[in-house]
Amino acid sequence: MRVRLIGLPTDSHSSFLRGAAAAPAAIRAALASDHGNAASESGLELGADIAFEDAGDLPLAEGEGDPALIRAAVADAANSGAMPISLGGDHMVTGPIVAALAELRGPLNILHFDAHPDLYDDFEGDPLSHASPFARIMEAGHARRLVQFGIRTLNRHCREQAERFGVEIFEMRDFAPETVPIPEPPLYISIDLDGFDPAFAPGVSHHEPGGPTVREFLHVLLRVPGPIVGADIVEYNPSRDVNGITAVLAAKLVKELAALAAKGST
Ligand code: MN
Ligand code: MN
Repeated sequence: MRVRLIGLPTDSHSSFLRGAAAAPAAIRAALASDHGNAASESGLELGADIAFEDAGDLPLAEGEGDPALIRAAVADAANSGAMPISLGGDHMVTGPIVAALAELRGPLNILHFDAHPDLYDDFEGDPLSHASPFARIMEAGHARRLVQFGIRTLNRHCREQAERFGVEIFEMRDFAPETVPIPEPPLYISIDLDGFDPAFAPGVSHHEPGGPTVREFLHVLLRVPGPIVGADIVEYNPSRDVNGITAVLAAKLVKELAALAAKGST
């Protein structure tokens, strides 16, 4: 199993603050930093036990052509036998990523971590808003099952959307890591960093108190048996970070996601 990093430097569908476009470079720097090593918690090491390549950043222009560029890069990774880990960018990017993988493998099952369900039909006049990707994914039939956890912002509209699409939402008010179901393959994992409590991930545009610790999140993630067909880490905003805490968290998640892919393929 090879893992391919794909940088998606875009803020094209951010709604409140900009900043996520600078994320891929900052996450790569944290990943390459001598502050730590390449080991995941399973002991598998990125670059040693897990073959690893970096496609660099896509030349996104914040225009209409961006989704097609993202789809093509993800399809290219999957067709070459590599498992894509995409570094956003705002959460819009998940729509074209999932579209590309669903075209190759049929509808996916998705494990989605976020403070927000991102199910708006049309947020502030932008149907491709970072508040809407999962509405678009479900409408297109690109997911068979969508399991969301970390959620703590469910308003009436998004609750109705979740019912309409049959989304399985595990809200923070009831959170217990062992109760979150891990969907069966083909499994895709989308991680919005604002899903963490802001104390653990201050580098996001939308601070939402009441989220889980990193450890609680990992109690869910490390239950994934693998393999996974792809993953993304989105909404990192370096301009809001404190001492790079969130960049290091994102880099750790790259290692843990890569280890899941490797674990499932051996
Ligand atoms: Mn969010
Ligand atoms: Mn999101």
